[in-house]
Amino acid sequence: MFRSIRSRITIPFITLIIITMLGLGIFITIHTRKAYLQYQQAELTAAARMIGDSILPVLQDRTDPQALDAQLKHYADLVDMRITVIDATGLVIGDTEADISQMENHLDRHEVAQALRQGLGSSTRASETLGISMMYLAVAIPSHGKPLGVVRVAFPLEKVEADITHLQQTILLVMLLATAVTIFLATVIAEQTIRPLKELTKAVDEISAGNIKAGLGAKFPIVETSDELGALTRAFNHMANHLNLQIDALEREQVKLSAVLQEMSDGVFIIDDQGKINLLNLAAEKIFSAPSSTSLGKSFAEVVRYHQLIELWQRCKNSGETQTAAVDIMDKQLYLFVVAAPLGKASPGSVLLLMQNLTRLRQTERTRRDFISNISHELRTPLASLKALTETLQEGALNDPPAAQRFLQRMEKEVDALSLMVSELLELSRIESGQVPLNFIATSPCDLITQAVDRLRLQAERASLTINIDCPLDLPFIRADQSRLEQVLVNLIHNAIKFTPASGVITVRACQGENGQNSAAVRFSVQDTGIGIPAADLPRIFERFYKTDRSRSSGGTGLGLAIARHLVEAHGGKIWAESQEGKGSTFSFDIPIAQ
Ligand code: ADP
Repeated sequence: MFRSIRSRITIPFITLIIITMLGLGIFITIHTRKAYLQYQQAELTAAARMIGDSILPVLQDRTDPQALDAQLKHYADLVDMRITVIDATGLVIGDTEADISQMENHLDRHEVAQALRQGLGSSTRASETLGISMMYLAVAIPSHGKPLGVVRVAFPLEKVEADITHLQQTILLVMLLATAVTIFLATVIAEQTIRPLKELTKAVDEISAGNIKAGLGAKFPIVETSDELGALTRAFNHMANHLNLQIDALEREQVKLSAVLQEMSDGVFIIDDQGKINLLNLAAEKIFSAPSSTSLGKSFAEVVRYHQLIELWQRCKNSGETQTAAVDIMDKQLYLFVVAAPLGKASPGSVLLLMQNLTRLRQTERTRRDFISNISHELRTPLASLKALTETLQEGALNDPPAAQRFLQRMEKEVDALSLMVSELLELSRIESGQVPLNFIATSPCDLITQAVDRLRLQAERASLTINIDCPLDLPFIRADQSRLEQVLVNLIHNAIKFTPASGVITVRACQGENGQNSAAVRFSVQDTGIGIPAADLPRIFERFYKTDRSRSSGGTGLGLAIARHLVEAHGGKIWAESQEGKGSTFSFDIPIAQ
């Protein structure tokens, strides 16, 4: 019936007040009128008795009508009323307002007859003499137990009515004022009662509009009353605080989750039931060169474009079961292990794609396989040759001492080659696995070059080669493990000797800041005038066991450059080679200077 709580409080309250005031008004008005008339009667009675008492001697005498008139006039002035004196026969013997000679017998007047009978009579009617409504009151004047006459006082009813009306108006005004004050108070109380409700509604509105923080923020309704509304507001505040804490906790969880998602090395996609990308992490962005700003909300097939992945996603979506596949992405040289899992009831039709990048793992695996095949290949030749030599010896060559001696020398050479390979392999694997502790100290580049060249000078001379050193003495010291870096130089110079025909020249150089090179490093280079390296082989010569075709017979293990590369990298530097077939090669590496 009443839409709002305010009207539910105020309307019945105001209606009740108005009804009460109305009832009270009517009752008071009627009662006031009655009481006032009674009061007037009592007043008139008292006045009439007093007048009757004082005119008794004049009435008994009746010889001096003037004296009676004077006395009556005097009293009429005092009480401001009309006074009439009537004898027991109804004859008017005195009147303050009319000529008694003109007045008829009053015995038939109701109040007079009643007073003569009962001692007191009253009546309200229009005066026949004066023609206006009057209130009459008559009292008998007793003498020796009999009424000697009657004193009648009359009061214009108009005046009484005017008094009563004035009184009633005053009462009405007071009541109206009281009603107005009560209505005002009712409205204020209703307003105060519903104010917290309004605030509460506002806060709930904010929350339901999704503006949870604002809804739960500083605008909490603060109600300190101990009534039901206070309890409701406190309960709401409690709930809001609790909700706030939960939202904070959720936000923290979300931050953690998104940090994990972004930092994870596996690519993650969430694809919705429409096939649109809902989420992708940094790894996924990198794998497919698809920034989230342009990919989010786009079709998965449009962004990824690899049919194996699209098929896998569709299989998972259609079957509702987890699917896995190893996917080769040729053009990006990527090898991915992909898991497609449906998100289930949480998000029907959506699929989570998890892509593990196994490219490096596969490369390592391939390197391991290559390594095993290389090493078997490298071992097979010396072992086969050892086997052949042993068999030849067993088959009778032992009985031919000069031949046996030759075979034994060849066997020793093969065993030496084998043990060199094993020791180099061991060394390489120790360097690769970081087991070789490097002892870095500030080292003079020229000292390093001189020592390495000195170790191989004899060998070079035997091969009729010239070795030159080009090293400015003012070069800064480098941060190096002396013996290891010397080993690098020895490997490079040794190769240069091996692959340079007689009368060739080998130059070992160190320099800094030339040709735009990094000034924080010293550049070493070993240049020869040898056979050179074919351009096709150049990028691979630092791999383990890699040898160019022309050097197959040189007897090397193919590990020297791999060891050199690892050692240079362990120094924080890099190594590379330049070569022109038939003209010579230059191997260079940079080593950071000491701080
Ligand atoms: P090896 O012990 O066989 O010399 P390396 O790793 O030192 O193994 O060298 C790998 C291959 O690189 C060699 O077999 C050779 O074919 C080529 N090579 C290295 N240095 C030179 C050079 N100075 N001139 C020509 N070819 C070279």
